[in-house]
Amino acid sequence: MKLIFLGPPGAGKGTQAERIAARYGLAHISTGDMLRAELRAGTPLGQQAQGYMNRGELVPDDIVVELVRVRLGEEDCQNGYILDGFPRTLTQAQIMDETSIDVDVVLNIEVADEKLVERLSGRRECKSCGAAYHVLYHPTHDGKTCDECGGELVTRSDDVPEVIRKRLVVYHRQTEPLKEYYRKQGKLTTVQGQEELAETTRIVLSAVAEAEAKL
Ligand code: ADP
Ligand code: ZN
Repeated sequence: MKLIFLGPPGAGKGTQAERIAARYGLAHISTGDMLRAELRAGTPLGQQAQGYMNRGELVPDDIVVELVRVRLGEEDCQNGYILDGFPRTLTQAQIMDETSIDVDVVLNIEVADEKLVERLSGRRECKSCGAAYHVLYHPTHDGKTCDECGGELVTRSDDVPEVIRKRLVVYHRQTEPLKEYYRKQGKLTTVQGQEELAETTRIVLSAVAEAEAKL
């Protein structure tokens, strides 16, 4: 199965994609995670992307498309994948279609903007391994260090109020039109991501199972 998880920043795409990927044995491909890994490693690509990410803007399409194209060629993607945070512009979606990157289902997770701001401003990540937490909804055992590796918890540089607002504007302007694009292709399934994590997982799982049954 080949899925796209679509939704605003803070909708919970990453967490849900990880859970569904594990359940179905799919590769979980997060362009945000991949870009942050490039950044941490200090690669030229990471350096190019950094400014855009810190400002809450999108990284240029050609950079992201190339990253995904290479990643999809890897062995673990042959059994299917979840694209999390890609495509994020109409151009990215059109390039996918033109280059025959297949998609069966686009799962659109809806959450109101006020809720997103609250979620994003409480989000923390591990400086060493990148694991994601939230001060209220998913705290670590001691509130200070990573449960996975003991690393230091930090706030992502784009999870500060000014940049959060910018990311929401960018989402509504550049990414939200993809809903209509995929609705016309008959691939769009929309779920509400308002609830707590476990409840959202239940909703997402049943939507994916239903979509799979129709393939
Ligand atoms: P979120 O969905 O919470 O905004 P991500 O981790 O998915 O966070 O993405 C973080 C940043 O990485 C984005 O704000 C953007 O700058 C960049 N990025 C990720 N995916 C893409 C993409 N498909 N196209 C352009 N930029 C991207
Ligand atoms: Zn860690």
